[in-house]
Amino acid sequence: MQLDRFPRFPLAHLPTPLEPLSRLSDHLGGPRIFVKRDDCTGLAFGGNKTRKLEYLVADALAQDATLLVSEGGLQSNHVRQTAAAAAKAGLNCELVLDQNVAWEDSAYRSSGNLMLDRLLGARVHLCPPGAPRSDTSPAIVEAARARGERPYFVPTGGSNAIGGLGFARCAREILDQSATLGLTVGAIVVASGSGGTQGGLIAGLIGMAEAGRPAVPAIGIDIDDALDEVTENVTRVANDCAGLLGLDQGVPAQAIDIRPGYAAPGYGLPNDGMIEAIELLARLEGLLLDPVYSGKAMAGLIDMVRRGTFERDQAVVFIHTGGAPALFVYPSLFATGP
Ligand SMILES: *Cc1c(COP(=O)(O)O)cnc(C)c1O
Repeated sequence: MQLDRFPRFPLAHLPTPLEPLSRLSDHLGGPRIFVKRDDCTGLAFGGNKTRKLEYLVADALAQDATLLVSEGGLQSNHVRQTAAAAAKAGLNCELVLDQNVAWEDSAYRSSGNLMLDRLLGARVHLCPPGAPRSDTSPAIVEAARARGERPYFVPTGGSNAIGGLGFARCAREILDQSATLGLTVGAIVVASGSGGTQGGLIAGLIGMAEAGRPAVPAIGIDIDDALDEVTENVTRVANDCAGLLGLDQGVPAQAIDIRPGYAAPGYGLPNDGMIEAIELLARLEGLLLDPVYSGKAMAGLIDMVRRGTFERDQAVVFIHTGGAPALFVYPSLFATGP
């Protein structure tokens, strides 16, 4: 795959570690679970968007942009990493945030990622409650252009073909690291929403298989409680990214594997499986997951293990996509002791 022909603006600490979760594996009675620490990408508390932004920022700089505009929910990890990337690249940053998650904790409106967006120097535009950000973003881009800026729009989650290159690179990293460790990876499990993470991974894994490396499936856990939409997102990015990478074959339909059932009652809203997963990983491994993405994805992995989805001695890689700053806007879930 032609990954190395694309310019990359270095933002992340790479490669991120691939580590065993031995106490979790013992607790569940197998398989051998490993964590790919993309929570440790290093940029302003890290997370999965940093890999995508390495390619997106390089593209923005190649187009002589002066400003990054992006969008997300009020507690978006993506926009926080975009604000940090813009700062590091010397670009201005404007963020369009909508307010569509019915979570009433007052910290949700003042702390966590939202506080960090402002600290990182981004200009924040809040949409009226209930209004989708897509109603506002084009006007923000146009207003910036009218002021003489050269805006570069980064879509929700940084999830397009260029952002996906970051996770094609992650696929290559995982296969290189597992080869060094003498591991055969049976599956990669990751949270999936706007689709750039899983889509880029799928394209990268197909590219590696074309180069003679082992074929590894990437299983996404739907964290949006919207299976059709997530499937569409992942399929689009996987195909567009495979096109950019110059892969011989397209993406077969069976490569798009997304598991529903772990996100209810909705995006950003808690459920028991997520709380169990976050507490378990904190107490067995000292590892902090987040309530919106990685906690629900880990709940999905734990449930699949309990249902016998994996062989006992199989190696399964969970990608920790970050997001822990959002723990602080859900204090009522976790800070309930005396
Ligand atoms: C954005 C995000 C995801 C989902 O990644 P997509 O590329 O949008 O599918 C998963 N985990 C965390 C912590 C995120 O911020």
